[in-house]
Amino acid sequence: MANRGNTHKKWRSRLVRAQNGRCYYCSRKFDEDDSWLHSTVDHMQPLCLGGKNTVMNYVAACKRCNVLKGNEGYKSFMAFWKNAWHMMPDDPREMISQMMKENRE
Ligand SMILES: [Zn+2]
Repeated sequence: MANRGNTHKKWRSRLVRAQNGRCYYCSRKFDEDDSWLHSTVDHMQPLCLGGKNTVMNYVAACKRCNVLKGNEGYKSFMAFWKNAWHMMPDDPREMISQMMKENRE
């Protein structure tokens, strides 16, 4: 597992190219700066939900979608955001703290 970082880097650039430089979930163009639209490698089905650590389970997602998706499976994430992409905040921190508060109550 020592070269996991390198492997991820390699797959990230391949996935970004395969997806025309756009996020798998929200279709926004990736930003090369270290912003919320920076590209990340996401496991469509999280490992903790039985997803496999294989290429078939990888997509390139912006940091924002990756963070908002959290450990939900992509299906529930997509179902939730399908009609609400325009409501997705550029900076998800506010929404995440709100969601965490609601989960606690
Ligand atoms: Zn996105």
